[in-house]
Amino acid sequence: MAKQRIKILLNYAIKYYKINKQFSKNCVYHAFKIKTRFNLKFPKNFRNLYCKRCFNLLLPPEGARIRIEGKGKKIKIITTCLDCGKIIRKEVERKIY
Ligand SMILES: [Zn+2]
Repeated sequence: MAKQRIKILLNYAIKYYKINKQFSKNCVYHAFKIKTRFNLKFPKNFRNLYCKRCFNLLLPPEGARIRIEGKGKKIKIITTCLDCGKIIRKEVERKIY
């Protein structure tokens, strides 16, 4: 039940992001509230897609700026939330095919 509600809310958040930013923010906020109350986890592909400070969706180009830094085996993905300015750094290993 709660899991389904989270899914629906997150889908709404993505769907209405371009039309109504505030509404989509509220959706993410409510999904987050449900998630914490029932001790659940967000879907894997959504975990890094929202700002943990202002619940803004980190979708470029309106919501976030994404830069890639570094060369060699390890690269850094730096995401900046354009709403509150929070910077999220993530290190990933480059895959060689
Ligand atoms: Zn933010």
